Amino acid sequence: MTSPPPQPPPAPQQYALPWPATAPTELTGQPMCRICAASPAAPVTFRRHQGLLIWLGFSSLTGPFCRTCGTAVFREFTSRSLWQGWWSPFSLVINPVVLISNRCALARVNKLTEPEPAPGGPASWTPGTPVLRRRSSLAALVPALWAIWLVVGVLTHLY
Ligand SMILES: [Zn+2]
Repeated sequence: MTSPPPQPPPAPQQYALPWPATAPTELTGQPMCRICAASPAAPVTFRRHQGLLIWLGFSSLTGPFCRTCGTAVFREFTSRSLWQGWWSPFSLVINPVVLISNRCALARVNKLTEPEPAPGGPASWTPGTPVLRRRSSLAALVPALWAIWLVVGVLTHLY
């Protein structure tokens, strides 16, 4: 009785990209969006801050992002920072820096032209509701209330 001849090992499967190898970066020389592979895209970083008493949380997402996906990341990260970024005394200094940094990154993304989707590429993110129309943005009044409370406290102790 003879055993069957050994079979060659199966060929390793190649990783299949969701879009063709002729990526826009090869055609245009511009970076592709890391989310939807559209072009043009800008290499920017959006940040998020959370502060609770003495605990400070930071997270970020670095591009390149197309205009649509960059706007979506900006709105999500900025609205979360507006809601969660004021609840520590340190955050009163840190969160404005995060918000300004995100606004500068959005300005770079807004300078891009309308994204050219990659053929067969993944869908871009939906930008969603603008930041100032979100109910959570009302938490941005917290630092103003803190400042009013501080001024009133100082004035009542002076007089
Ligand atoms: Zn995109």
